[in-house]
Amino acid sequence: MKKISITTLGCKTNQFESEAILNKFIKNGYILSDLNDKPDVVIINTCCVTNRAEYKSRYAIRRALKSISPDGKVVVAGCYVNKGSSFFEKDLNNLYFFPNDRKHEIFYEIEKLKEEHSRDFMELTTDSYHLHTRVPVKVQDGCNFFCAYCILPFVRGKPVSRPIRSIIEQVNALSENGVKEIILTGINLGLYGFDLTDSNLLYLLKEIVRTDIMQIRLSSIEPMFFNDELIDFLASQKKICHHFHIPLQSGSDTVLRKMNRTYSTAEFKNIIKKVKTAIPDAAIGCDVIVGFPGETDEEFSKTYDFIDDVPVSYLHVFRYSPRKFTKAAEMDWNLSGTISKKRMQSLQKLGHIKKNEFSKYLIDKKVPLKAVLEKKEKEYWSSVSDHSVKIFLRDENNIAENGMLKNVVAKDFKADSDGLIVEEDVHD
Ligand code: SF4
Repeated sequence: MKKISITTLGCKTNQFESEAILNKFIKNGYILSDLNDKPDVVIINTCCVTNRAEYKSRYAIRRALKSISPDGKVVVAGCYVNKGSSFFEKDLNNLYFFPNDRKHEIFYEIEKLKEEHSRDFMELTTDSYHLHTRVPVKVQDGCNFFCAYCILPFVRGKPVSRPIRSIIEQVNALSENGVKEIILTGINLGLYGFDLTDSNLLYLLKEIVRTDIMQIRLSSIEPMFFNDELIDFLASQKKICHHFHIPLQSGSDTVLRKMNRTYSTAEFKNIIKKVKTAIPDAAIGCDVIVGFPGETDEEFSKTYDFIDDVPVSYLHVFRYSPRKFTKAAEMDWNLSGTISKKRMQSLQKLGHIKKNEFSKYLIDKKVPLKAVLEKKEKEYWSSVSDHSVKIFLRDENNIAENGMLKNVVAKDFKADSDGLIVEEDVHD
């Protein structure tokens, strides 16, 4: 049997695509293997959203080239290929490059199959899962917002939505195959339906909640898509996780404008307020970029104070790095690495405080928790709750037949792993 190994960098959309690519190979007789087992095919699904992501992609490719079997093939796919780099001009006969719009051809090309296959969005799908408990389901690709720092519109192209029928078929198949939780993903998820005549994200969600899937998580959604109708619907649905990732990027209005973001800090604050009013236990995560070209100490302080003031539950902090093709790459950028690192560290510290505050809130308010339990290590079952908090359960009586938590609330911190110990809710 031939062996395949896959390494995925970057976003949930890449994770979905890796599952789909891998599924094609496994359905045709390959087995999933470790890099150390000298695989016949290694796939690196790359990312180029930051310098670090590019570095990790290059590292993974070099490692794969050293690890494959003598006749093995290394497939380099995704955004870093679209972006192009001198690295990809290397003429190695065991190295194959696939940009994003050719990922669905990987299996056929590697196996040298001449079958006809379409190039449409639906081709890349999977009804089973090999890498994840919470399975990403890609419903949208591309973005035309052109935020000044972002390379994704250049490497992912214009927005394209996947037809609802195809999404529902996949969700049903995953559910029949034992998947409990899906994560809806897209490069700009809120744009779902903009290129279709009869659909949008809300309509899609209404269809998905009618399937048998038990838990639905939304990946990142831009703030302007949280309108009243969507918020009311999210609040009314038991299957939808109380976890929303809403990119902020900066808490300074001048920086937001330079970034080509289309909302002000006041509008962002108002959206968070509406979400929290409708869903008081909503976990809200934010992306923030520090060191954007020209960001002053004062602008950074505004970002810090803004985040300190709004009820966010965790932060993903990124240090700006110029991306070829983007508007920001042409701006003067001379902030020292030491300062941007300090800014990043102070926001990470704030993020940690916010995360603990949110965990404490869940304990104090005895918020009921939902999760698919994943694994048992020593005396604890562990997982990630619907609020995206790590949880640990000792008592197996609180595991329902379908593997989900039943009737539990958070009782205490598990300090050694930054998570929550959960126990049966005996509170009335
Ligand atoms: S919304 Fe902005 S940050 Fe998000 S993918 Fe589009 S251009 Fe990039």
